Amino acid sequence: DTDTDAGARNSTSLRTPIVAVLGHVDHGKTSLLDKIRGSAVIEGEAGAITQHIGATAVPLDVISSIAGDLVDPDDFDLPGLLFIDTPGHHSFTTLRSRGGALADIAILVVDVNDGFQPQTLEALDILKRSETPFIVAANKIDTVPGWNATEDSPINATYEAQTDRVSSRLDESLYEIIGNLSDEGFSADLYWRGQNFQRNVGVVPVSAMTGEGVPDLLTVMMGLSQRYMKEEMEIDVTGPGVGTVLEVKEEKGFGTTIDTVLYDGTIRADDQLVVGGMNEPIVTDVRALLQPRPLAEIRTESRFEKVDEISAASGIKIAAPELEDAMAGAPVRVVRNRDLDEVIQEVEAELADIAVDTAEEG
Ligand code: GDP
Repeated sequence: DTDTDAGARNSTSLRTPIVAVLGHVDHGKTSLLDKIRGSAVIEGEAGAITQHIGATAVPLDVISSIAGDLVDPDDFDLPGLLFIDTPGHHSFTTLRSRGGALADIAILVVDVNDGFQPQTLEALDILKRSETPFIVAANKIDTVPGWNATEDSPINATYEAQTDRVSSRLDESLYEIIGNLSDEGFSADLYWRGQNFQRNVGVVPVSAMTGEGVPDLLTVMMGLSQRYMKEEMEIDVTGPGVGTVLEVKEEKGFGTTIDTVLYDGTIRADDQLVVGGMNEPIVTDVRALLQPRPLAEIRTESRFEKVDEISAASGIKIAAPELEDAMAGAPVRVVRNRDLDEVIQEVEAELADIAVDTAEEG
């Protein structure tokens, strides 16, 4: 109950929603992430997008400059979007927070020509079970025969540049996707027709190759987060950090490290942590908090730079003793001024949840 916590209220802020990308192999998940990162680098001021460990943060001002007229930054108070860099179902299902999905929202990528495939159905099932709001990116629109591409254009303008034959061919494919979604129990529509994204899944035509529709995709993601997730994004930023292990990695000079997505509070370089382990919770002290160093500096220095603290939502590499038994998907909790036993119990409870779910998935 946060009401007992009134003193900490003034540090409440809205964090960045965490976004996952799902879909069938080769439908363009990686390309779409690359395109979003690439557009953000071109549009933003230098350093405006930040490469985290395992994730990319795209701030609101960059989104609004990519989206142009589609986004008025005054309409939003969430700070942007944090994309998890590893697309796919395995990372989605292993990455959890407090029993739910770690990702707050998802993009389901479907190749417009290839349509629904086994992993598309699998992804839908995962999204349904985890009750994760999502939109569908109907990708590869540039491969519709006769397509006339306008790089990085919003969909509306690009539609107008097509002949009737080409646009009706695209429409046919899009309606097939909408029909498939409906067969799976999701009411869906082209995103500019659906008013209520809570009931309606928005379908956004895009090309990860030409960037067409990417402005729309980012706009719809911001809108979805803003309208339906605002309360969940309210965190006490200065509170003890809470996160999920993305990957356990050996790192030269640092020993075993955990790449972690932080979804609540702050981790500091002098914090004590409890981390989910293979046998039992690991109690340890942070040795270093590491972030990727900007590309230009890597030649002369280590790939990582140390930071004193980091706040949610973000991706961070944590170096600490005793991490050998840490597991991907396990919880990470900062102890700080909390009771150590209580934190250990929370981590144990979360580990028990993970074990039950893993058993259910067979
Ligand atoms: P993933 O397996 O879902 O991550 O798919 P990839 O991003 O690796 O893409 C699979 C292939 O499709 C690659 O050869 C990409 O270049 C290609 N591809 C992805 N998106 C598009 C697109 O929008 N248009 C075209 N023409 N090709 C694409």
